[in-house]
Amino acid sequence: MLIGQFLGTSAAEGVPAPFCRCYACEDARRHPENQRLRTSFRVDKKMLIDFGADAPVQAMKYGDFTELEHVLVTHTHDDHLNIHMMMQAFWGRDRDKPLHYYFTDKAYDITDKWCNNSWILKGQVARWVKEGIIVFHRLEYYCRYEINGIGVIPFEGNHKGNIGENSAMYLLELPDGRKLFYGLDSGRYPDKTLEMLKEHKIDIFISEATMGTAGKHPGGQHLCLDDVKELSECLLKQGTLNENSQLFLTHISHRTSHSDMIKAVNELNFPVKTTVCYDGIKLL
Ligand SMILES: [Zn+2]
Ligand SMILES: [Zn+2]
Ligand SMILES: [Zn+2]
Repeated sequence: MLIGQFLGTSAAEGVPAPFCRCYACEDARRHPENQRLRTSFRVDKKMLIDFGADAPVQAMKYGDFTELEHVLVTHTHDDHLNIHMMMQAFWGRDRDKPLHYYFTDKAYDITDKWCNNSWILKGQVARWVKEGIIVFHRLEYYCRYEINGIGVIPFEGNHKGNIGENSAMYLLELPDGRKLFYGLDSGRYPDKTLEMLKEHKIDIFISEATMGTAGKHPGGQHLCLDDVKELSECLLKQGTLNENSQLFLTHISHRTSHSDMIKAVNELNFPVKTTVCYDGIKLL
């Protein structure tokens, strides 16, 4: 059964950020409903996109991961990929199913580093793979896979992970016929990704809005609200979005408060219905 729940909506630092006293962090300290855990999206009981730094807390708040079988990895930054959760899966080894991780491009190579390093997770990863507790898969950009009864197509992003890989954005063909696109951490989309998206009509468009109202990211590896508006106009023009598509903004950094995000979105007049996500919000 589809859930479509954001278990976390912050960028890498969390909101409030531990070492920050900016107005947005102070606002979040005064108003716990404005606090954000690190990014994670639950498609259904069996599938997650991003399994990040706050996963154990998210399991306490929004429900356990006992039925989780599939993790789509966008990239290897720690806010999106918490490798300690593999240890947790081992501790819960009365599970009858393995935990599958899906990587694209060079991101998959990190699994070799995990398997061949005695310092990482007590040197156990190779054994968990051998025993079938953990299974690693390599996906190719722009190819279609069937995972968990859902069509999955990874698209190349423009954001470098820990081992220099480009990020993956995921298009999901949901069992009810809708198409969901998960675009974070995207940066400015590569031309090929924009081109390949012309073949799809997206109903639910999830985008990073990392820089909020704080302006453009040096190097272009993250998007601000102006960038997301420009991107959604481009996707609307090329037919990937339509007037009934909905845009959901997540991966929001601490520099813009939740209320200022909403205010800015209203003022910018996005071309499709746009929601500023908060932790726990459900879409499907
Ligand atoms: Zn991130
Ligand atoms: Zn701050
Ligand atoms: Zn990142």
